[in-house]
Formats: sequence, C-alpha cells, structure tokens
Amino acid sequence: MTTLDLAGAKQTPKKLNVVGRRPDELQLALIERCDVDPRNARMRASQIWRWIYNFGATEFEAMTDIGKELRSRLDEEFAIIRPTIIDRQVSRDGTRKYLLGFGPGIEVESVYIPDVGRAGALCVSSQVGCTLTCTFCHTGTQKLVRNLTAGEIVGQALAAKDDLGEWPSGKDNRSLSNIVFMGMGEPLFNLDSVRDAIDVLSDGDGVSISRRRTTVSTSGVVPEMTRLGNETNAMLAISLHATHDELRDVLVPINRKYPIAELLDACRTYPGVGNARRITFEYVMLKGVNDSDAEARDLVRLLKNIPAKINLIPFNPWPGAPYECSTWERIEAFAEIVNRAGYASPIRTPRGRDISAACGQLRSDSVKERASDRRKRELAAAAADAGR
Ligand code: SAH
Ligand code: SF4
Repeated sequence: MTTLDLAGAKQTPKKLNVVGRRPDELQLALIERCDVDPRNARMRASQIWRWIYNFGATEFEAMTDIGKELRSRLDEEFAIIRPTIIDRQVSRDGTRKYLLGFGPGIEVESVYIPDVGRAGALCVSSQVGCTLTCTFCHTGTQKLVRNLTAGEIVGQALAAKDDLGEWPSGKDNRSLSNIVFMGMGEPLFNLDSVRDAIDVLSDGDGVSISRRRTTVSTSGVVPEMTRLGNETNAMLAISLHATHDELRDVLVPINRKYPIAELLDACRTYPGVGNARRITFEYVMLKGVNDSDAEARDLVRLLKNIPAKINLIPFNPWPGAPYECSTWERIEAFAEIVNRAGYASPIRTPRGRDISAACGQLRSDSVKERASDRRKRELAAAAADAGR
C-alpha cells in the first residue's frame, strides 16, 4: 500500500524519530548529532519539545525561534514521525476509530471517545496484536506482531490531536483530556515503552495529560504491577471478569500463572492506592457465563478491603465470538447488587459499537512477517533504491 511505503520512506534509518524521546534523551541527541553546545542543550530541547507537543509542529522548519542553520541541521538528523491514518470511522455517538500505520504491515487501532473522563479519552494500543488469548477479546485472536515503541504510542495521541484540531495543547477547553491503555495488547508486557510514553504525554509543557487522567489496564501481569505504579504513577485497571479461578483460567488464561488471590494481593500493595486513587476492576458481562447474582455477591466480597471501582462492561460482540452479551435485565440485576454494596454507576455504556470501536473489538490485519520474507522485501527495496 503506497501510504505505508511513504511512512516507511520517511523513517530513513539515519534519521532519529524525536517523538517519544524523553527530554534527557533529546538533549543528548542534540549534543551528539547536531553539535549543540551542552550548555544550550536543555534550552534547545525544551524549544523543540514545545513546538512538537504544544503546537503540533511536524517540521523543524516551523520552529521559528531556532536559527536557520540549526533548523536545517535538525532536519538532516531528526524526524518528527506521525503514524499514517489509513482509515478513520466516526460513530453515530461521536466516537472516532483510527486505523494507524507505522510502516509496512504494522497497523493498530486507536479510539477517541468523547464525554469520557473530564472531556474525552483516547484509547491507545501498546502492542500490534497480543500474546495472550482471552477468549472474549477480538485482539486475542491476532498473534503478537511486535511491541510498539514509545514514539508510536505517543504518535497515536498526536494523530488524534491533529484530527481533533487540538493545537496548541490548551489546558482548559480541550477535547482530549484522558488516556486509557485499553486498546490492542497487554501494556505490562511493554512497560518500558508505556512508561516513556506516559512521561512524554504527561509533561506540562506539552500534551499535558496528567498521570491521574492516565489509566493502564492489565489482564494481571502481577510481577510488573509494582513497577507500573512506581515508574508511571498511573491509575490502574484490572481485567478481572471472573470471581473464581476455574472460570478465570478459561476467560483470561494468564490467570493460570497469576491466580486471583495473587492478583488481588498485588492490588492491595499497588503504589499510591487509597480511597483517592482507587483501582478499577473491569468485568465483562457474558450471558450465562459469569453474570449470576451469586457471582455479583462474590465480586463484592472479593474486593472488600481494596479501594475499588467496579466497571461492568456489556460484552461487545465480534465476528465468530463464542459468547453473547448478558441481557439488559441481567446486567441491571447484577449492577443493583454491586450498587447496594456502595459502588456508584458501575455499568460502562458501550461506545462506538456501530463501527466496531468498543472495548475488545479492536484488531488489525497485521501479521508477523517471516524472517525470510522480510529479507526478501528488504533486498527488493535496496535494489529499487539502487536503481533510482
Ligand atoms: N490487555 C489489557 C488492555 C486492553 S483490553 C487488558 O486486558 O486489560 C481493555 C478492556 O476491554 C479489558 O478489560 C478487556 O478485558 C476488555 N474486553 C476485551 N474484549 C472485550 C469484549 N469483546 N467486550 C467487552 N470488553 C472486552
Ligand atoms: Fe490481550 Fe487484553 Fe485482549 Fe486479553 S483482553 S487478549 S490481554 S488485549
């Protein structure tokens, strides 16, 4: 596809993508690649930072408070890379779903949902596909292609802000106020990139989405949870979906490695957890599978000593899914029990279902390229380059 080739061409190996680099990395790159005087590196990095993350600049040429000579040097050494928007769909309810390309065969979906959080939330992907195979999740049917880099995670937010016309990044009156890592992939299997992306997106001189408005959802990668809290200070969401191990082993297979008791222990000790920083427990409502009154009571009992919010997610169907969504009466009865235990408004209204943008409906056609095919493609590209 030509759009993908273009994205790839822009990413010449010589040029460093500055999107997603932390300020210290950017300073070092300026010194090493552009001979910037180390005494000025900090100031230069913060100028570039503001242009990219506050004003949405896509070219160094636009950075008018930087001298012409340095600008052209920056242009030789660095690139400001956005994903290509391959497809964009808008739901009747205003939800926008993007299919984004990062290079040949590397595609993910991101979803902007208005009126969620303070103004609107962007649901970002952290991996192309997923290694896990939760049986109710469409992404789970797509094998892992690769982890996204921090630049590619941040790039999803930049692309959404372009589309929403949200430059400069105002602090008030914004449409994008929250980030949720609830797109494709398991964020705790790509924690370094997730952490760097949160560092960049939360910075007050740029996109400025605070850590309190950033939520990371995990299927329960217990050994990485403390590090997530310590290194990102983000809000935590847990994909619980079952109240006993026998069922959770089937729905969320990582449970066989880290069962419910261990997962909840890790929640109790999650850094910063307290009544002002509650953990969200997500519970997908599957007809006849996990939606009985007894399970609602078990759920409440299980979370008793944990500062928690409960999010009941009506199951969002996808082609070939082996489950159905619980009836509305069943969801309400379940919610009523949860409600009586003191959890407010526990049902998450499905958004963007008409464009398959709701929780668990995301998937791309990217497949992992075999090494031999990759070599063939690279050789063909090199031959085409040589012939130019
Ligand atoms: N991998 C992470 C984050 C992505 S999934 C995780 O599993 O937490 C975001 C949320 O959507 C998770 O709670 C996931 O369990 C839920 N989900 C997946 N498929 C769904 C579906 N078909 N309908 C409703 N929710 C779903
Ligand atoms: Fe992966 Fe999360 Fe889907 Fe499970 S629910 S398959 S962890 S994306």
